Amino acid sequence: MNPLHSVLLVAALLCVGTASAEQEVNVYSYRQPFLIRPLFDAFTKETGIKVNVVFAEEGLVERLKREGANSPADLIFTVDIGRLSDAVEADLVQPVQSPVLTANIPAQFRDPGNLWFGLTTRARIFAVSKERVAPGEATSYEALAEPQWKGRICTRSGKHVYSVALTAAMIAHHGEAEAEKWLTGLKNNLARRPQGNDRAQVKAVKEGQCDLALINSYYVGNMMADKEQAEWVAAVNIVFPNQDSTGTHVNISGMAMTRSAPNPENAKKLMEFLSGDLAQQIYAEQNYEYPVNPQVPWSGLLKSWGEFKVDSLPLAQIAQYRTAAIKLADKVGYDD
Ligand code: FE
Repeated sequence: MNPLHSVLLVAALLCVGTASAEQEVNVYSYRQPFLIRPLFDAFTKETGIKVNVVFAEEGLVERLKREGANSPADLIFTVDIGRLSDAVEADLVQPVQSPVLTANIPAQFRDPGNLWFGLTTRARIFAVSKERVAPGEATSYEALAEPQWKGRICTRSGKHVYSVALTAAMIAHHGEAEAEKWLTGLKNNLARRPQGNDRAQVKAVKEGQCDLALINSYYVGNMMADKEQAEWVAAVNIVFPNQDSTGTHVNISGMAMTRSAPNPENAKKLMEFLSGDLAQQIYAEQNYEYPVNPQVPWSGLLKSWGEFKVDSLPLAQIAQYRTAAIKLADKVGYDD
């Protein structure tokens, strides 16, 4: 090799060295950028690791499948145990062994095999008409199947992931036969065919179409912050169901490391960062959710709703009954 070639070779190696020294981690997110960007900026500030985000409303799991081993994604962020389970079932994620994650995240809210981890929790609560539902009248998910609620309940589709998780929890608690009776009773008590999202159910209560809506807790905060929807949510009281029995059903938003992650060390660092104090507080407050880390204080709004008993069923167990829950929704014709 002549001297000039040596110089060029060294220069080339230096270039490669520089390129790989730029630390980064790539995230595919179903969560909206405004929720996660502040956290990623804080992470970059602390570690120097750049976070690249691809956001999409849907199709990220399919995209991961398509890209296979060549995918640039290290982490996937999504809501609901249902969507995390979809990624697991498609064999797109890998376990992450981390004492930090297992210390910060209660066992109930992470996969026993460390394939996914919860970041925030959200409660499935009742929004009840201030005018037409007396205090103490709405008590439990089970009671929604009783005759007193005939024609008074609004919910979204029985096959939406939020509904499926609640039905799956009912199967886990009471068995499939009891859960079928319950879902049939609930269906028969609906004021209208399931339609719209959670917020639309609150609107229907405000407009007098029904007296009780099943919604995720963070929508209360979201609606209060929206000029038009603030009027809808002002018409309801919120109730945390099953306080005298199994506790309120909660779900998670969460994260998983992709099987093909090109930057697994950086990805693990980001996961650990997000389970810690600073990030947990910011993340939960952005969307009026509960921090999954029990050491982290709640925002003022959540505190104003009060502490409540949480259903202790592990999310992994609820996930096992998802398929049965979807079949049940079909069987009872919930959406018909
Ligand atoms: Fe939602």
